[in-house]
Amino acid sequence: MALPPGVSSTDFAEVLRQFQGVVGAEWVFTSDADTALYRDAYSPMWGEEDERHASAAVAPNSTEQVQAIMRIANQYHVPMYPISTGRNLGYGGAAPVLSGSVVLDLKRMNRILEVSERNACALVEPGVSYFDLYRYIRQNKLKLWVDVPDPGWGSPLGNALERGAGYTTSPFRDHWAAHCGLEVVLANGDVVRTGMGALPGAKTWQQFQYGYGPSVDGIFSQGNCGVVTKMGFWLLAEPEAYRGGRVRVPRYADLTPLVDTLAYLMNTGVLSSMTRLESPLLFGTVIGGPPDAGVQALMSRAGGATNEQLEQYGLAHNLPYWSAPLRFYGPVPVINAQFEYAKQKFLAAVPSATFEEEPLIRFPLTDEQAGETLDPASFGVPSLLAFGMGARSPTNPTPFDGHVWFSPVIPMSAEAVFECQKVFTEAFKEWGVQPLGVPLPQSYHPRTFVQIYGFPVVRDPAVNKKNRETFRRMIKLAADHGWGEYRTAPAFMDDCMAAYSFNDHALRRLHETIKDAVDPNGILSAGRYGIWPKHLRGNRT
Ligand code: ADP
Repeated sequence: MALPPGVSSTDFAEVLRQFQGVVGAEWVFTSDADTALYRDAYSPMWGEEDERHASAAVAPNSTEQVQAIMRIANQYHVPMYPISTGRNLGYGGAAPVLSGSVVLDLKRMNRILEVSERNACALVEPGVSYFDLYRYIRQNKLKLWVDVPDPGWGSPLGNALERGAGYTTSPFRDHWAAHCGLEVVLANGDVVRTGMGALPGAKTWQQFQYGYGPSVDGIFSQGNCGVVTKMGFWLLAEPEAYRGGRVRVPRYADLTPLVDTLAYLMNTGVLSSMTRLESPLLFGTVIGGPPDAGVQALMSRAGGATNEQLEQYGLAHNLPYWSAPLRFYGPVPVINAQFEYAKQKFLAAVPSATFEEEPLIRFPLTDEQAGETLDPASFGVPSLLAFGMGARSPTNPTPFDGHVWFSPVIPMSAEAVFECQKVFTEAFKEWGVQPLGVPLPQSYHPRTFVQIYGFPVVRDPAVNKKNRETFRRMIKLAADHGWGEYRTAPAFMDDCMAAYSFNDHALRRLHETIKDAVDPNGILSAGRYGIWPKHLRGNRT
């Protein structure tokens, strides 16, 4: 068994004994076989010295037990790493950022404490998964939806803390934006409720986000100032119906009016669901699918294909250069009007735009629809379909072991999309690398795109090392252009935080000042998002 850094074996034995006294011996895990379960299966440092490992894990069942554990850990300066369900694959999984931390596994705290249909909100514990909440709502025939991420096996609480996102409407698809009220255990074991929860007997904890005075919720998201033991959420009241489809435009230069119109529709609230840019001409009609054979032939000519040649090919074969999904949720007359209005706006901007339209769907979904819908996340249905991407198949006999995403936030404008693609395409050529997937932007968060590039994780340290180096160069290159990551894996947390460097890293200094004040012994999730406690900052101020 590894020891937590800075803790003697005698002290650690005593701490584990005391943890057992709090939660029972069966909920303290110290064997190699048990702690191995907290390895990050997608770690880009897998098997290397720098891979992050837990020294032990402890699984409490209540806020009181979390408080008792934190008091013990604080007394002995034992680094702790709280997780909810620990399924944050691609962003660290269940492994601590600081190797040797004890994982505080909150999976057993899986109570759905309240779901209000009337106020469209819920209060849950960390171990409640999207599947749990979805099943509860469906079994009780409540007219509510939960916005789910890809994949839906993690927890609403953990995903919101990571600022994950989904596919339905705003603000629900920005999971942190839709949270309402926290209960947090601090490093010293004190318990705090934020927002209206600070008012004993509050009647609006899950309805009114602010409460009174400075809003402190933010320091707990992508932060390391507390163990969140309860979180409230706003849910979507089940819409009456859905209309979906796609806008398609034929020419390369149509991207500018296409994106400007998408942005206008979003900023006026006409389009509030997630959208993305697609290029059926370049990348096939299925996201990530192969390009059309004719396009491949054009591209493989000496010197490649010009934009005009590609456009002509697209026009002749009914393949738009760009397209974007349009999804509307609400009362039938409203979504009909929204779709018609959107069409008018796109046609005014690009007269040759065409549209695909899906049949109207009314809610609630039948069990069959919920089970068979092609795109479950668009209907608030959690699934594991995302794991089908790149899975083992006759055409892909040796799939990767995992991946990490490089995902900078860029403005919602065609200029930014073109610039970002140019900058990275040239860099990849110079560096001799080729990331995974289709480099087209997604709008998980309103007003912006994230331009996602994937890197495979394999069980070969040399390949992983090269990809890590590329990732780090991309962080710097992006920052040089004013693009920063919205979320990242532990391997890159320091690099990303270093890029947010205005006024000689004033933001990091502020985070660390708060960290030192709230957690003076620096025991909670050290290093998460590049925020380190004083004793682990070295010479850095
Ligand atoms: P999920 O339940 O969606 O799989 P995780 O448990 O993997 O999410 O959480 C993602 C990250 O968020 C964790 O690595 C941890 O740093 C942080 N985190 C998750 N749950 C809590 C919590 N209850 N309190 C404090 N931090 C948490």
